[in-house]
Amino acid sequence: MTHSTRSARATVVGPSRLPDVGVTIFTVMSQLAAEHDAVNLGQGFPDFDCDPRLQQLVTRAMADGDNQYAPMAGIAPLRHAIAAKIERLHGCRYDADQEITITAGATQAILTAVLALVRPGDEVIVLEPAYDSYVPSVLLAGGNPVCVPLDHDRGYRVDWERVAAAITPRTRLLILNSPHNPTGSIFAAEDIRALEQIVGAHGIFLLADEVYEHIVFDGEPHRSVASSAELAARALVVSSFGKTFHSTGWKIGYCCAPAALTTEFRKVHQFNVFAVNHPMQSGIARYLDDPAPYLGLAAFYQAKRDRFLTGLSRTRFQALPCQGTYFVLANYHAISSEPDAQFARRLLIEHGVASIPLSPFYQRGFDNRVIRFCFGKRDQTLTAGLDRLARA
Ligand code: PMP
Ligand code: GLN
Repeated sequence: MTHSTRSARATVVGPSRLPDVGVTIFTVMSQLAAEHDAVNLGQGFPDFDCDPRLQQLVTRAMADGDNQYAPMAGIAPLRHAIAAKIERLHGCRYDADQEITITAGATQAILTAVLALVRPGDEVIVLEPAYDSYVPSVLLAGGNPVCVPLDHDRGYRVDWERVAAAITPRTRLLILNSPHNPTGSIFAAEDIRALEQIVGAHGIFLLADEVYEHIVFDGEPHRSVASSAELAARALVVSSFGKTFHSTGWKIGYCCAPAALTTEFRKVHQFNVFAVNHPMQSGIARYLDDPAPYLGLAAFYQAKRDRFLTGLSRTRFQALPCQGTYFVLANYHAISSEPDAQFARRLLIEHGVASIPLSPFYQRGFDNRVIRFCFGKRDQTLTAGLDRLARA
């Protein structure tokens, strides 16, 4: 910023609300990928377009005049369409008027949920590796994040005994994410049972990030927290149409929670966005009439996963199991012993492939020489990336 009358004195901001936070690793790697013309298998977004029919429905909504504020909670047809979908898939009936709120993507829903529930000094359990917005959200609410590692020797499953041991009288919330970014692990039936025991014993709240709900492979179901009555009664369940409809740039998501929790959620929601893009909501509401796009998503991405894994097996990377999401972890022990951030940078600059190192998903930077690839890309992008990875 420059201004002719601006004082030469440096602006003093004082102590930061988020002293340890920099630019996210996704942005850093995408910028570097653009600078080096690398194949971007880093940041999680499809490099193909969303369905033209969905675009037409949104365009039509604009032509029809849906261009002013939507209702604070989101438009009724979309909330009802979401309620019907969840009831069909998980047998849980949310009241569309009192228990579902449309948000500006999952990120806003997560921050809003945390700000609504977490009071200064409350503890919030975060399972690591963790999506990057969880801990900053807790810190902004004045809460104390308590990080519990996933068991990386057992496919990044949750170690429920460790979770139970981390609970104290100050524990307010447990943040869950299945299917899991960055590891691609999913909840098994016994995870839901273990969670029920924990919630039954301790009465904590749950924030379930289920943005990859429709990307679960090998015939497994998505085990939503909403599929358990005990859990749903204590949970805010968050999802995003960005993943489901290949429209990450639209930033439309939602939060489902019992009325008492939704009341608190909306108190915050109305002051951090008030309402969300109106024509997108109208278009998505109509698009949801046809379940084929979201029900077909798992097969669509499973074919990409398999293509990518076949290619990766011809390289010196070793893929770890991937049961859901459009991410797969790979170790590079056979290639290098460099720290993951250094290796990912070198892979990008010298070999022209962007990935995401795993250590930024841990508060203390745990590094077992693993990086994340996103296979939610066109087949030609995957082939180009694999050709380059084969030379690493
Ligand atoms: N949670 C997880 C696990 C994610 O991977 C992402 C984004 N990729 C989000 C939340 C944020 O979703 P949105 O873009 O809808 O804010
Ligand atoms: N969720 C996406 C990922 O994990 C990125 C979203 C973002 O850039 N904030 O790559």
